[in-house]
Amino acid sequence: MSGFARAAASRGTSDRCKLRQTQLILFDIDGTLTRSHNGFIPFNEAILKTFGIPGDIRTVVPDGNTDPLILEEIFATAHLDVDITEESWQAFTKNLQESYSHAIREGLTRITPLPGVPELIKELATVKGLCQGVVTGNLEVTAQLKLDAAGLRPYLNLGAYGSDSRDRFDLPRIAKERWEKKMGCSLAPDQCVVVGDTPKDLDAARKNHMRCILVGTGRYPVEELAFFKPDACLSDFKDTEIVVTMLELT
Ligand SMILES: [Mg+2]
Repeated sequence: MSGFARAAASRGTSDRCKLRQTQLILFDIDGTLTRSHNGFIPFNEAILKTFGIPGDIRTVVPDGNTDPLILEEIFATAHLDVDITEESWQAFTKNLQESYSHAIREGLTRITPLPGVPELIKELATVKGLCQGVVTGNLEVTAQLKLDAAGLRPYLNLGAYGSDSRDRFDLPRIAKERWEKKMGCSLAPDQCVVVGDTPKDLDAARKNHMRCILVGTGRYPVEELAFFKPDACLSDFKDTEIVVTMLELT
């Protein structure tokens, strides 16, 4: 039995953990909290509506990337010379929100929480001194739609998004600064934990001197993620107690 498992086993479910200091947990969305089924439909529709050309997100690997960079990569892969102006970017954002919202409403696209995630998020909400938010390459409008569809939005109303910066390295810092502004106090970087499913999540955490837990529920199996030496690594979030204990010890 691992140290994490032993500590979790010795900890009763009614024994709410007491953190040594405040912690901000910043979850990635896709592959970490949720899975999208046919998410390409509204994304491709928004490209067609905005730019009048048939771009296809299925031609690139979007995992760990931000939506602005994904859009550029789709055009580059298709050898399309598209000038993404501020005006067209605003139009794309509006079209993506409308298309995603419509696709979810009509059941063309489904967003489901990954196993154990709803239980984990609810449990973490009871831990005194622990705050939760998101750091995601999604635009804020689509992040909110996905969290809403997965029933997670009430617990995760703070974060940083692909609409804040095209560079994922900027996002953990932006989320931390938003939390500090909201709470009126400061956090040291090592009081923040980035939780994600790709090496890019780990890179963003390290760049900001934050800790990182990786989970093998996205494109990368846990054995591959462990190679990059995050602070901790998990196959999934099915065992809430182990994850909570891991956050205490990480
Ligand atoms: Mg992800």
